[in-house]
Amino acid sequence: MSARSHDDALAARELYRFFRSGEEETLALRGVSLRARRGETVAVIGPSGSGKSTLLACLAGLEEPSGGEVRVTGTRISHRPEAERARLRARHIGVLLQTRNLLAHLSVRDNIRLAQRAVRGRPATRADALLDQVGLASRARALPRELSGGELARAGLAVALANDPAVLLADEPTGELDGGTEQLVLHMLRDRAEYGCAVLLVTHSTAAVRVADRVLCLDDGRLRDDESMRDVHDVGA
Ligand code: ADP
Ligand code: MG
Repeated sequence: MSARSHDDALAARELYRFFRSGEEETLALRGVSLRARRGETVAVIGPSGSGKSTLLACLAGLEEPSGGEVRVTGTRISHRPEAERARLRARHIGVLLQTRNLLAHLSVRDNIRLAQRAVRGRPATRADALLDQVGLASRARALPRELSGGELARAGLAVALANDPAVLLADEPTGELDGGTEQLVLHMLRDRAEYGCAVLLVTHSTAAVRVADRVLCLDDGRLRDDESMRDVHDVGA
């Protein structure tokens, strides 16, 4: 990787991830390097099993890479005890995973407040203001099971944004959404990028690829065209 830039909210260098279950060995990531700057939206595409979710989990510090390094706003998050990774993640990273990031027994508002309690000091944005931004002000007291699919997606996004993260990582954020809700979520992701967040999303959606500044193709654990500034229209996803 070339010289590190201060604009890089997220930088991964030579990530490897090895899984062993019984006799079976899988090399899910084979030397992935990438960077995402503040204000930039990066889409990661690739066939099923190519390592997209593993990559996202390593970038988020949810999993430890077997080799390589992840930095968030210049601070290494990989190869640290889990509690330290969790603290750095709460402070700097918003995560939207396929398995939803909401606790079932807490209202939408309390889910946001819980995320905010993981970080010291007063939250940058109040829970009610976040709910307003995602159009859920009237559903603040609802439990996750009382929400529609589109409302759940927006609630998950509000939780991911709870601590005004420098980096937003999303795994198929619009996978199960209808067209209208997908547009809303994509619009909100773009908005975040415009406010200086680095947004990286794993997606199969053409609409999502279209909003990205840059598209990275993962193929069998490798980026097909490392750090290229490919034009979205060349990808044909
Ligand atoms: P994608 O999100 O692109 O579909 P994944 O990152 O989920 O791909 O998986 C990449 C590869 O790693 C696959 O071969 C998958 O079977 C394997 N893999 C993922 N997670 C595990 C795990 N916890 N244990 C063993 N193998 C895994
Ligand atoms: Mg996946």
